[in-house]
Amino acid sequence: MTTESFTLSMTPDSHGFLGRKCSACEFEFRVPGSVVESGTLNRCPHCPTNVQERYWFTDEQWSPVAEHTLAITSNLINREMSSLSVDAGHVRLRYVPGESRQPPESYQERDDPSLVATTFPCCGQVIRHAPVVAALSCPVCAAS
Ligand SMILES: [Zn+2]
Ligand SMILES: [Zn+2]
Repeated sequence: MTTESFTLSMTPDSHGFLGRKCSACEFEFRVPGSVVESGTLNRCPHCPTNVQERYWFTDEQWSPVAEHTLAITSNLINREMSSLSVDAGHVRLRYVPGESRQPPESYQERDDPSLVATTFPCCGQVIRHAPVVAALSCPVCAAS
């Protein structure tokens, strides 16, 4: 069993904010990088669902991880196919070694000038998000 691990560091935008996406309602918002690091993001500001930290990746943040995972998987499948090709009769399976890829090292959150800031009076937490009509709740405090 081979294991490979890599760490993806995430650099906040110029406001110091990192994007988050609620896996339940798909609402996207940004919180200060310190909130992500300290794990104090408790809930979605848009829906009452409690979700674990690991489901907060935005599509853009997840994409380099997914790409690398796919590359690793292709390599494993290719290796497996080559061992099956030994006695394949007239059907020849060719082993094409996958390119060795460097895992992604960092993700840079890009600035999005269309985002607006909301400050929650309960604790002063600021989030940035696309303009919405619905009322938002503080993602750090339990109070709404
Ligand atoms: Zn939500
Ligand atoms: Zn609060």
